[in-house]
Amino acid sequence: MIELIVAERCTDCGACIEVCPAHVLDRGHAGLPVLARVEDCQTCFMCELYCRADAIYVAPDCDRRVAVSTEDVLASGRLGQYRKHSGWDEWAEQFPNEQWLMETVFRRAGEAAAQLKAKQADVTGGT
Ligand code: SF4
Ligand code: SF4
Repeated sequence: MIELIVAERCTDCGACIEVCPAHVLDRGHAGLPVLARVEDCQTCFMCELYCRADAIYVAPDCDRRVAVSTEDVLASGRLGQYRKHSGWDEWAEQFPNEQWLMETVFRRAGEAAAQLKAKQADVTGGT
């Protein structure tokens, strides 16, 4: 699940907010994205992939959050690793993994999850 955004690295481009298929992120008052609905995170890594500032850390555990600090993540060297190994942007020639082709699958999954959530809200609201 998405765990944190390193504020000092964020350039406020808004890409992560736009690409997240589960609408986990909102624009905060200072422009910085905020983790608004972490429980909806699909651990799809799309936000990491699109963050050219390598400011986002998504942990591979999709069931529960893990406690990590900004300092830990910065020291781990994991920031930007997924984007790099996926052959994204400046890494296109070196790492032609093409994992990004999964984007459509994640988007469809996000839409299906949102529809289900809306349906469940209707049922709950109607009782
Ligand atoms: S990992 Fe995927 S679902 Fe989770 S916040 Fe990032 S883009 Fe959204
Ligand atoms: S994609 Fe990265 S740089 Fe852009 S708003 Fe999100 S965290 Fe900030």
